[in-house]
Amino acid sequence: MSAAAPGRRVLVTGGARGLGAAIVRALTAAGHDVDFTYRESGEAAEALAGEAAAAHPGRRLRAHRLDLADRAALDAFCEVMAGEDVFGLVHNAGQPYDSLAAMLDQERAEAAMQVNFWSLTRLAKALVRPMTRAKAGRIVAVGSVAALRANPGNAAYAATKGALIAYCRTLAIESARRGVTVNVVAPGFIDTAMMAPYAAHRAGMERQIPAGRFAAPAEVAELVAFLLGPGAGYITGAVLPVDGGLTAMMGIHRT
Ligand code: NAD
Repeated sequence: MSAAAPGRRVLVTGGARGLGAAIVRALTAAGHDVDFTYRESGEAAEALAGEAAAAHPGRRLRAHRLDLADRAALDAFCEVMAGEDVFGLVHNAGQPYDSLAAMLDQERAEAAMQVNFWSLTRLAKALVRPMTRAKAGRIVAVGSVAALRANPGNAAYAATKGALIAYCRTLAIESARRGVTVNVVAPGFIDTAMMAPYAAHRAGMERQIPAGRFAAPAEVAELVAFLLGPGAGYITGAVLPVDGGLTAMMGIHRT
């Protein structure tokens, strides 16, 4: 079993807001030092780093500006991080792209694929080798129930998350003997900016969720923190829905 004492450094992508910010908070509370990336939310990133450092004196937090769509910038960032002692990677950054399956715009679909999927593979390429050398490492990718059940208008986004799941399963079995675990957390609907465009439909969406509501970001972040913690050393290759019962449910109701 790999030792996974909290206090080691974890890198979180898209950590300045939404679920990513909740993950940064949960990880610092669990005793980790956290590096997180942000794209545009510089002020929010600074505020979050300040807030978490004040709440947990002694934790080391660093915010890095990085656009995951910029492959050259991502390469440069990966080269730096490969030389650092990173115990955990949480790939949380993600972008939606709504389109009917038969109407995909390839450029926009590729843009989502770059952020949601390819950037994880690039980060893993930089970080997995040092993790296997250390015989300790944790990777968590944020997927989506959209990859587990079809949702009209969500084909490209679902495909990015489906690719992420397939990749993580393979990475998990390739690195399991070397003390590295790789898992996917698959949220249902979380109360973040990503859901803002659907505000008018929220009540109807919540009626269709067995739990009757969206998740708070912290309810997903707690599972991510657990997967980075000492109790999760034997969990690998898993896809874990955090969806208020959504994927357990048959979609057609008698009443
Ligand atoms: P959000 O829109 O608030 O956050 C998305 C994050 O991804 C932000 O930090 C943003 O900066 C980052 N990001 C997007 N494009 C980027 C780029 N090019 N470069 C760098 N960072 C980029 O939404 P959220 O709900 O907090 O999303 C977090 C994760 O959860 C995403 O992977 C999303 O797909 C997933 N998810 C969200 C929901 C939901 O209902 N909100 C459901 C399932 C999965």
